[in-house]
Amino acid sequence: MTGKQIEIYIPPDRQGEYFTIPFEMPENTALMELSYSYLSISNQPTTLEFGEFIPENRENIIDLGLISPDGQQVGASGSDKQTMFLSETRATPGYTPTALTPGEWGILVGAYLVAPQGVKVTYQLTFTPKERSLLIGDIHTHTTASDGVLSLSQLANHAKSHGMDFLAVTDHNQVSRTETFRHIEGITLIPGVEWTHYEGHAGFLGVDQPYDGPFFTNTEEEALTKFSTARGRGALIIIDHPCDEACSFQFDMHDFPFDCLEIWNGPMRESNLRAVALWQNLLVSGRKIACVGGSDYHRDRLFQILGGPCMGVYALSNAPADILDALRNGNSFIRFAPEGPSLQLISGEKMMGETQKWDEDTQVQITASGLKTNDVLRVITPHETTDLFQASSDGALAVTYPVKSPGFVRVEIYRTFIPGLPPLPALISNPIYLDS
Ligand SMILES: [Zn+2]
Ligand SMILES: [Zn+2]
Repeated sequence: MTGKQIEIYIPPDRQGEYFTIPFEMPENTALMELSYSYLSISNQPTTLEFGEFIPENRENIIDLGLISPDGQQVGASGSDKQTMFLSETRATPGYTPTALTPGEWGILVGAYLVAPQGVKVTYQLTFTPKERSLLIGDIHTHTTASDGVLSLSQLANHAKSHGMDFLAVTDHNQVSRTETFRHIEGITLIPGVEWTHYEGHAGFLGVDQPYDGPFFTNTEEEALTKFSTARGRGALIIIDHPCDEACSFQFDMHDFPFDCLEIWNGPMRESNLRAVALWQNLLVSGRKIACVGGSDYHRDRLFQILGGPCMGVYALSNAPADILDALRNGNSFIRFAPEGPSLQLISGEKMMGETQKWDEDTQVQITASGLKTNDVLRVITPHETTDLFQASSDGALAVTYPVKSPGFVRVEIYRTFIPGLPPLPALISNPIYLDS
């Protein structure tokens, strides 16, 4: 946490003026807090013949506001509030949640009333830096805007009540836009669309208008233009359920720009296992493509729930851009449900999704929590698949895995969900990459 104190003196002849005091927003700020103080009532008693009189009239009234680097009003609270806070997702009422862009911001000073001797005003700024934490959310969902049964706000509340920190809304060929849901308290909503074409489905997340014109195309070239435009506008592009029986991705995905492959769509089944194998082949070929999963929620059904599966992301904050960055970089794992196990892979300073230089002494620290009795932790590299550990009771695990050759290390946790049936993945992590 860093801070800055600014003291100013306002002479009486500036009464009635507005002006700004510049300050520098540090890089990577998650939260800023601003408080200010000044002598509003002097309370100087007047000595009378039989005692004293203490006046209550305000001698100084100084108003507060905040201006962003592009000159916009973030908020203005008059003299009502002595403190305010701001982050990208939350703010003191009267201030609009805003990305804390590094650069020159301005404290708005309104010198409404100034005493004849002038007034000293002290501003205290505090900046809390971003810090990675684990956030849980579903990134493939449908509402009544396509073929789901819940409205956007019903879906958001459903996700909140299931313990989710974020939700991406991805209706078929219908973009959910930021302005429709930006300020639902307690959950980060990410705009998106599931581009739904006879030859494949893809998620475009994080931008209000990923492509121009209608969704449809009749040629691969036009489809490519949609993807390239979305990429250019900063959308996170996910190839959805690439091996689905009914809606597989039939274009040649190697021609298309994309960030993530949805290897786990809804309940674990054969088509998902084929997608996992497809992803493993991409990784073995040297591609660094992040895997994702999403419930493809339309309505509650047997084995189909919101957040089944969902993403656990190690994001720098709960702002959409930081969540999308963590997904794009693969600082994440997929788990079968919001209450599923958690996992982290660390080698030196690097974590899952990042690249560490490999040598013969390279090790990966694997930590897992939320394990259930008989859960099996499987380590997968380009060269081998090893069942490393079977839990003898519920609990957590911390182990060190020596990495014998360069490539990557990823983990799957298998669980027996229904006694008598084979175990299924409860978690699939992204790899930590180990380059020679
Ligand atoms: Zn789909
Ligand atoms: Zn879908």
